[in-house]
Amino acid sequence: MEKHIKGLHHVTSMAGDANQNNRFFTDTLGLRRVKKTVNFDAPEVYHLYFGDEHGTPGSVMTTFPFGQMPRGTRGTGEVGVTEFAVPKGSLGFWQEHLTTKGVTGLKTDSFLGEARLNFDGPDGDDFALVEAEDEGRIAWTGDGVGSGEGILGFHGARFRLRDAAATGELLQFMGYEKGEREGAVTRYRIEDGNAARTIDLEELPSAGQAQQGAGSVHHIAFAVEDRAAQLEVRKALMDTGYQVTPVIDRDYFWAIYFRTPGGVLFEIATNEPGFDRDEDTAHLGEALKLPERYRPFRAQIEKGLPEIA
Ligand code: ZN
Repeated sequence: MEKHIKGLHHVTSMAGDANQNNRFFTDTLGLRRVKKTVNFDAPEVYHLYFGDEHGTPGSVMTTFPFGQMPRGTRGTGEVGVTEFAVPKGSLGFWQEHLTTKGVTGLKTDSFLGEARLNFDGPDGDDFALVEAEDEGRIAWTGDGVGSGEGILGFHGARFRLRDAAATGELLQFMGYEKGEREGAVTRYRIEDGNAARTIDLEELPSAGQAQQGAGSVHHIAFAVEDRAAQLEVRKALMDTGYQVTPVIDRDYFWAIYFRTPGGVLFEIATNEPGFDRDEDTAHLGEALKLPERYRPFRAQIEKGLPEIA
């Protein structure tokens, strides 16, 4: 199974106001909205997808904006920081740009020699921009963010865990290599695959458990090429004792989910068929797209959703 995981596919967070959320990822971070659909399990809530031009796996931040929702409480057992890769030398631009946009929580630091800019999302999400090589990735530009600065996709994610050992073992089983440690954080990297390749495990043995809410990561998805690879990964996980869901059709990818020992919900998602299966690349994310089972109820669903630009 270790050859099948290609890095991150997407990260999905819970959010409050849909318009605020949409503005943040497009206008503030300069990502492209690549899909506007509904939560397939709760069609009264949007599922918004933001990424590069095509919504390339490894670039896709997704949100469920529930409207009124209490904020989550940070703690262990969750994805603590979602990290986006930006071109080398661009953090000065971002510091100024995010300040102009009124973003809070700006703080620069470094980890394993990489320059980072930490900042808050609209619901108190913990995000960071990390300077990285582009590795052939091309940023979506516009909204005052140029190609020399634009987000290239995910760099990776940092988990907060009470005990990192079992999650570290799982990542190695999935093909990640255990890397260096700095302070309480150990890096895991996947060499092949897309450039969204790092998972950092921060061990916080005395911290309280996270309470999920707006601004919390709901789950983190890892990429596999196709359904055949996904089935092999599913079998390998189940043979190891994980309880994995059946394969679920998410229209733009197929998904399986399982809860990890540290508490984080993992998804394995296919690179196929992609976000252009029901819209031209030029118009991705513009129209509300519904899965087949909700199409007869379009009028009713549209009436219940807030309008977003
Ligand atoms: Zn997902």
